Amino acid sequence: MSAASESIFAKIVAGQIPCHRVFESAAALAFLDINPLAEGHTLVIPKRAVERFDELTADEAADLGRAVREAATRVMRATGAPGYNLLQNNGSVAGQEVPYVHFHIIPRRPADGLGFRWLAQKSSPDALAALAKRMMNGG
Ligand code: AMP
Repeated sequence: MSAASESIFAKIVAGQIPCHRVFESAAALAFLDINPLAEGHTLVIPKRAVERFDELTADEAADLGRAVREAATRVMRATGAPGYNLLQNNGSVAGQEVPYVHFHIIPRRPADGLGFRWLAQKSSPDALAALAKRMMNGG
């Protein structure tokens, strides 16, 4: 048993715990977050229990992307919000609390008070070039 398959989202997929579903495909499920940051805050998960996004197969990631797009369309239609954030946390260091891969769709409105932290750091062209080269070669 993995952390993902023992998590609350695995129980939701299995139908052992209820959720407010808003979209379902063969590979993914979207449901309302139980503690929303804004009205319409929605989570989209794959049906296979996986902890981190990079552990999905390429096909699973594509299926999940399609479901995120469909759910985002429905969130925007239902709430009328003028924008939204997609948030996807991997690892506790990144703020992931439920160890089962999930996308947040968070509707945004002017002056909603949610804010946005983007603490940019300085880099140098040499450091960026060296890192990009490593990544071009696969990391
Ligand atoms: P994260 O911090 O990215 O792991 O986010 C986990 C999210 O799951 C939080 O926003 C929680 O409010 C949400 N959550 C936890 N349990 C449930 C549940 N049973 N149904 C719906 N959302 C949940």
